[in-house]
Amino acid sequence: MKNFNKKCVVLYSGGLDSLLAAAIMKKKGFEVNALFVQTPFYKKDIKHLQKQLEQFSCELFIKSNHDDYIEMVKNPQFGYGKNLNPCIDCKIFFYRQAKKLIDETNSSFVVTGEVLGQRPMSQRSYSILRSIEKRADLTDLVFRPLSAKCLPKTEMESVGILKSKDFYCITGRGRKEQFEIARSFNINSFESPAGGCLLTDKSISVRIKEMLMHENFKETELELLNIGRHFRINSNRFVVSRNKKETQVMTEKFKNTQPFLKCKDAPGAVGVFMDSPSTDEIELAASIIKRYSKKTEHIEYSYKNEEVIIKPQELNETLINSYKIK
Ligand code: SF4
Repeated sequence: MKNFNKKCVVLYSGGLDSLLAAAIMKKKGFEVNALFVQTPFYKKDIKHLQKQLEQFSCELFIKSNHDDYIEMVKNPQFGYGKNLNPCIDCKIFFYRQAKKLIDETNSSFVVTGEVLGQRPMSQRSYSILRSIEKRADLTDLVFRPLSAKCLPKTEMESVGILKSKDFYCITGRGRKEQFEIARSFNINSFESPAGGCLLTDKSISVRIKEMLMHENFKETELELLNIGRHFRINSNRFVVSRNKKETQVMTEKFKNTQPFLKCKDAPGAVGVFMDSPSTDEIELAASIIKRYSKKTEHIEYSYKNEEVIIKPQELNETLINSYKIK
């Protein structure tokens, strides 16, 4: 039987359940190494995560392997949920990252904030949780403090380093008990469960799927997934802002770094290309901007040292829609 120490790796998503898992383990006297696995479709403000964990003196580790993650999203062994979310494969991926951190930090086991029956895919049943453990080489080495009392024993409980009676038996989708535990730890602000995974969003999933069909997509494309209207012009993606806020964000971030279009003589939308466009592509993009910026007569295109003013043609809606990714 394995020798256990009092060090664990908590898979930390930034949500309430995993924060509770970290706080509970800390209270029980364990050293907690919190792991946030960053993916191209699930990003968080790291400073905020650190701040949340600071109150429980837990150290935060970040791991990411975007190439492998994207390959997994393209071909998940266990399929997708409602949208492009391959939750079972994603959990296996996360567990494997946790296993690596166990080895790197000389920790003994993994802890998660998973609650039995809470999620339709990966937390549906104990047998699914077991099969995820097995594929990450963590069989019986994953402790779930929020449901431990009503789950079969892990190896840590068999050797007596943990006692399930000291933990909880929460099941299902309700959040009442978690809120009560949060209050007891003085946790007042937290995110909604699964908030922030772009793969679960219906319209963003369509964009991601289309993006994954093209090789060598750019970091900019990932950054813009939840912003603007998206168009495919030949092999280039063109993104147009939908409102004042998006116009401001896209201008600040991309005006000086990407091929960029903006209205010259009236306020209106802006547009960003992922790659350097041809003259025809710029003219088409200017017409698309014009469609969403009725008052302007001229569009300015700029990239590196090039600057061009275009008088765009008015195109019909059907033609514009034919370029839309939807
Ligand atoms: S919701 Fe997103 S981050 Fe969470 S398990 Fe599913 S795919 Fe992974």
